[in-house]
Amino acid sequence: MRKLARITAIANVVVVVIGLAALVLLPRDDGRSQVEAKPRTPSPAPSGAPPKATPESAKKVKANEAGLVPVIMYHRILPKRRASIDRTPAQLRKELERLAKSGYVPITAAELVARKIDIPAGAHPVVLTFDDGHPSHFAMDGNGMPKNDTAVGIIYEVAAKYPNFRPTATFWVNRDPFGIRDRKRQRQAVKWLLDHGFEVANHTYSHPDLRRLSGKRVSEQIVRQERLLKKIGAPASTTFALPYGSRPRKPSRAREGKWDGTKYHFGGVFLAGAEPTVSPYAKRFAPYAIPRIQSNGKRGECRRWCSTYWLDWLDKHPRERYTSDGDPTSVSVPRKLRSTLSPARAKSVITY
Ligand SMILES: [Zn+2]
Repeated sequence: MRKLARITAIANVVVVVIGLAALVLLPRDDGRSQVEAKPRTPSPAPSGAPPKATPESAKKVKANEAGLVPVIMYHRILPKRRASIDRTPAQLRKELERLAKSGYVPITAAELVARKIDIPAGAHPVVLTFDDGHPSHFAMDGNGMPKNDTAVGIIYEVAAKYPNFRPTATFWVNRDPFGIRDRKRQRQAVKWLLDHGFEVANHTYSHPDLRRLSGKRVSEQIVRQERLLKKIGAPASTTFALPYGSRPRKPSRAREGKWDGTKYHFGGVFLAGAEPTVSPYAKRFAPYAIPRIQSNGKRGECRRWCSTYWLDWLDKHPRERYTSDGDPTSVSVPRKLRSTLSPARAKSVITY
């Protein structure tokens, strides 16, 4: 990871440049209507008391809660991609099915940051994140169900096929969440997502490059969006994604601050590149600079730092990957990784 960390800075720059280019050059979605979805009943999140982990049970599933977690970054989901960061519905479906078949279970960004990783023993957490609140992420059909070929529609489709795949994701939105302008409809959309266990959180009000703004303007961008989210029924955001992955000149402004009498404080700030994050129980975990992996194939600049590369890499290095002990109250690791855990973050540790 040390070697890989060196590419992160440059990869982040590439992502920022691609993002800026996409914003400047691309036309907005034309909003053509999508194929109507059949009404489906979303499956609930897993419930019931999880079993207590023991050194024996942890060893049996090769639990490693000090391991790496992929946080995957998606932008628009379009039948015809217009930028390299766009994915088609078929590409998203294929990637989610790959994750499901490999034993990944989605958690939200808020759950990662709060260390609420409640997934079955032997499963690996993955965080699915969708930036910019595009209409292709969430839209309802005439029956009040998520439309086919939207991100939420595809997540449910995959969850129906793979029952262990928990249908959840994080949506980091701006001033017109999911392309909706009407307040009442914005409220309906947010309510539906929250009621079904999704996270909707702050991605600034108008998506500026925060590096180019004064500190005061950075806080204004964040507070305006917090106020909007509150108006439409979302709780105070505990996570924040930097537009273009670009950090303010004073990085702490992205995690806490105040504008016009309103304060904000996030538990986690997410970048836009370019490797899996270390476990939130690890000493090395950096909650205010959490890396993400762009969903993409292995061509060009994605040869080394997009999702196909990293999911292949994690398949080839299973011992590096976060594997759950199935017990959210304990942190299980092979004995030799004990010292990589943060004593403040990992309170009840099981080694084997
Ligand atoms: Zn963005």
